Amino acid sequence: MRKQGDTLLVSCYELGHQPFQLASLYALLRQAGYNPAVVDTAVEPLSDETIRQARFVAISVPMHTALRLGEQIARRIRALNAETHICFYGLYASLNEEYLLQGLIDSAIGGEFEEPLLKLLAALEDGASASIPGVSTPQHSSQPWLQRAPLVQPRRSVLPALDRYARLELNGATRIVGYTETTRGCKHTCQHCPITPIYRGRFFAIPADLALADIRAQVKQGAQHITFGDPDFFNGPAHAMRITSALHREFPGISFDATIKIEHLLKHRHLLPELRANGCAFVVSAVESLNNDVLLRLEKGHTSADIVEAFALMEEAGIALRPSLMPFSPWETLESYLQLLSFFEERHFIEHVDPVHFSIRLLIPPGSALLNAPDAWQWLGKLDPAAYSYRWQHPDPRMDNLQQAISVLVEKAQRAQADPIETFFHIKALAFASAGREMCLSCSINDYGKRKVIPHLTETWFC
Ligand code: SF4
Repeated sequence: MRKQGDTLLVSCYELGHQPFQLASLYALLRQAGYNPAVVDTAVEPLSDETIRQARFVAISVPMHTALRLGEQIARRIRALNAETHICFYGLYASLNEEYLLQGLIDSAIGGEFEEPLLKLLAALEDGASASIPGVSTPQHSSQPWLQRAPLVQPRRSVLPALDRYARLELNGATRIVGYTETTRGCKHTCQHCPITPIYRGRFFAIPADLALADIRAQVKQGAQHITFGDPDFFNGPAHAMRITSALHREFPGISFDATIKIEHLLKHRHLLPELRANGCAFVVSAVESLNNDVLLRLEKGHTSADIVEAFALMEEAGIALRPSLMPFSPWETLESYLQLLSFFEERHFIEHVDPVHFSIRLLIPPGSALLNAPDAWQWLGKLDPAAYSYRWQHPDPRMDNLQQAISVLVEKAQRAQADPIETFFHIKALAFASAGREMCLSCSINDYGKRKVIPHLTETWFC
């Protein structure tokens, strides 16, 4: 396992960023005496030769898209090198382990994966077969590992250059983007979130000096902007502010973005001017919906009035707010979907949202807290293990049809690099048609008025 290439670390997708988890695990394994090969299939090929050489392959699956891509790679590995041990690690490995362990992979690790993965490697070297806490296998199921991980500074020199990944578009120019994390997990338990069944309201801080050293290394590689990829940057606001202040002191020209929930933006509003002064270009916030019934059922911790207030606060602070949405859930109505569209149109906020967000449909992975929703019997269907999600149907069939039509529209628009404002109004036209209402598409587009340019990353897909 210790020879160059005996161990292979693969990342398939980390939202257009140079993969943090790969760089971090690589550094840890090097420290432990291994010499892994590292491949990010999002931007580089994985050769048959590399696969044939590997005796242990760890594939990072932190999100649904990564899992789907990881599955394809695992099948290819199985076909080329049947004997190698395949391990999936990350949020979606644990959630879907029951299905994955039926022949596709040999082990799945969730939560703070580093320590169980090191122990698994050691056990494979020794030929030991005892169960390892945190590692699920076909013979033994284990809970996600939630002990503080033995983190080291990620080693990024083995990864493709930062200029091969998503860029920031800011003030008419593009910037090379780096990525780091300052916390893992989340102290909240939103019902639809895949983090909830794994971390169950816990989060872990990554030491500030490690995060800063990682940023420093990426600035050296050319990063001009940093994405803080924490599930919520203000789970530990003092920690976050300490890091952004240090970042700004050392690199005053570097901008950054972070994900912060609406509730935290309101609660920690006094920090927003300092966040801006430290270089914050935009904040992503999981708005999800403007329908208070939906927000309550998801236990989001905010209301539609809070969203309005957050937009105002962020405007005052001079930080762009970029909402992420999940408007297709069993509780959204056609009327509330139309109101959501009106909200963005009337307040001139369309530019704040990538059109794909208006098409997002609730995913219910195995283990989701939503399986216990009191009204689940009304809409929940069977688990589709190969799709890594439960099926569900909206009580109003017009909503399912509308979602499908909008998905197709958005995909086509993305491929054609269509104007996002025009795409928005095409979405609105579909929603109006579903409600049996008419609208003048060209009038709406013309009436929208002057367009704003909101800082954004060039990669729009996100889950
Ligand atoms: S605050 Fe965000 S990351 Fe935390 S549970 Fe809710 S949706 Fe998930």
